[in-house]
Amino acid sequence: MTTVCWFRRDLRVRDHPALLTAREAAGDGAVVALYVLDPALWRTAGAPRLAYLVASLRALDEQLGGRLVVRTGEPATVVPAVAREVGATGVHVSAATEPFGRRRDSMVERALHDAARPVPLVATGSPYAVAPGRLLNRSGTPFQVFTPYRTAWLAHGWHSPATSDRPTTWVPLPSEELPAPEGTPGVTPAGERAATERWQTFLDEGLPGYATHRDRPDLAGTSRLSAALRWGELHPRTLLADLATAERDGDPTTQDSVRVFRSQLAWRDFHADTLWHHPDARSRSLRPVVPDDSWATGPHADAAFDAWCQGRTGYPFVDAGMRELLTTGFMHNRARMVTASFLVKDLHVPWQRGAALFLDRLVDADIAQNQLNWQWVAGTGRDAAPFFRIFHPVTQGRRFDPDGHYVRRWVPELRDIAGASVHEPWLLGLHAPQDYPERLVDHAAERLVALADAAAARAARAEH
Ligand code: FAD
Repeated sequence: MTTVCWFRRDLRVRDHPALLTAREAAGDGAVVALYVLDPALWRTAGAPRLAYLVASLRALDEQLGGRLVVRTGEPATVVPAVAREVGATGVHVSAATEPFGRRRDSMVERALHDAARPVPLVATGSPYAVAPGRLLNRSGTPFQVFTPYRTAWLAHGWHSPATSDRPTTWVPLPSEELPAPEGTPGVTPAGERAATERWQTFLDEGLPGYATHRDRPDLAGTSRLSAALRWGELHPRTLLADLATAERDGDPTTQDSVRVFRSQLAWRDFHADTLWHHPDARSRSLRPVVPDDSWATGPHADAAFDAWCQGRTGYPFVDAGMRELLTTGFMHNRARMVTASFLVKDLHVPWQRGAALFLDRLVDADIAQNQLNWQWVAGTGRDAAPFFRIFHPVTQGRRFDPDGHYVRRWVPELRDIAGASVHEPWLLGLHAPQDYPERLVDHAAERLVALADAAAARAARAEH
């Protein structure tokens, strides 16, 4: 028998439940490894994300001995056509859980079902440790707050990595050339092998210090696995199994880091769960916290937004983050939080505008993680930082980039300023670099504006 394994956000061959199911269902037969280049994705996704995707597909094709079958077109047309071409008995996928993927899959499922010889679309596993929608609180409703969600997530647990000794026989079919990407795929090499190597190195060298270093953008203290997880080059379950071993065998410092790292994977699942229950959270605030008319609009707001995009706000830590993003397609998590907060609470630009820029520029751009993290920073999410918690761009820089290395690395105009003074070049008076912009706004004043807007919204809500 022949089956189709349709790869999407699971660009790997190990620990791949859908692939194992496809292989089982094929029996002594063979599996088509299919990737569909969907014009809808190609039209909308940012160049760095697509560049990484192409690099990852090349790596997958290499792992499959050149047997990856690439076809371009609407999945609802292409997938049934390939199934027909090989007389497949089933099309196997890892479940899509975000709004675009869910819509696409129901169209493909219908098309496969309506074919002259109907074929099932079989979903096995998802890109998450615990599938979105699976966990509900005692009253049978979705968790609103992260900490109880994580408690339930830990109690629920996850399957061990899926393994099999049987090799897969791949069906050789004509395949299209992968497109040459416009962007650069970022600083971390793509593909399952590269991701596995990076994870192993991180386990040995990075994990023990993770809890203390993860907030420091001046250090290489995090795993840099977000793009690999986004495209499923590694499954979080694989990481969680290794973390359990590290926790069992490690010293108290490593055990602490294991807990913190595991928590980040729980956040990943929590955001996916939020989007599952609230598909419109990709564009709509789950809790409006300021009046709609308090957002900055018009040419002045556009100019402020452009300055933010280019890393020219005059606040060095914010500018370093934005320039890291522009240059590499990556930004450290701490800098993501501070730059996002600055846009929403200092420049009063709606989070959706910043989120769109991030989606366009990030190599790891992911609709659930990006939009829900933006909502967290903006204070509009399900369990979000309260609106009154406003990141101070200078204090954050001094705390998390204490010697100023991160700023000097990404903002060349400030390279001659030694130490932490780089966070406040305006204090250098005549010695301040001439080519670095003045501060766009006064943080102290804009903070008060943001707080007043939030108070006005609260008062309006209380009246209703
Ligand atoms: P590590 O610290 O090594 O963490 C390990 C893994 O845990 C990450 O690879 C990621 O999969 C997950 N993780 C870590 N932090 C978070 C978090 N806050 N929320 C959810 N998962 C997390 N992450 C994306 O993958 N795609 C995005 O589009 C994205 N957009 C973001 C936008 C904003 C405004 C903010 C504040 C955060 C965003 N994040 C996003 C989350 C986080 O910044 C990145 O996952 C992280 O910086 C990736 O670096 P790392 O792999 O070295 O992380």
